[in-house]
Amino acid sequence: MSEEKLSVSKIVKGTAIDHIPAGRGFLVQKILKIDPTARTVIIANVDSKRYDKKDLIKIEGKYLTPKEVNIISLIAPHATINKIENSKVVEKSEVKFPDVIEEVLKCPNLSCITNSENEPIITKFVKVDNTVQCHYCDSLLKYDEIVNYLNV
Ligand SMILES: [Zn+2]
Repeated sequence: MSEEKLSVSKIVKGTAIDHIPAGRGFLVQKILKIDPTARTVIIANVDSKRYDKKDLIKIEGKYLTPKEVNIISLIAPHATINKIENSKVVEKSEVKFPDVIEEVLKCPNLSCITNSENEPIITKFVKVDNTVQCHYCDSLLKYDEIVNYLNV
């Protein structure tokens, strides 16, 4: 995307998340629980080199916590996070899929201890090849399935 096009939806300070797989921009917005009054721009289905199409989201006045970056990496593993100040990108970082994922995923196994109604415990998944594995019951989730088991 050219600088010219980007300026259409420029924000002064905040965060721009680029290289989100097309169709997941709104999911990112939902997951971040963005204040509905915050100025948010979602640009959907932009041509991309990495994917056929990508989404891009810009949020005025919001900076991401490390936990929020981790959650984004689960659904947009190639996302780029741009920190913006005075309308300029001051920091650019790529997300990294975490080795251990706590709390944010639900286990697909209903009899897993993490799904217990009496004393539910916080979920923990460990990255194993192209899957993540429940630390407690060894259930596997493929990367593509993760989006369906987000605990948000
Ligand atoms: Zn489990």
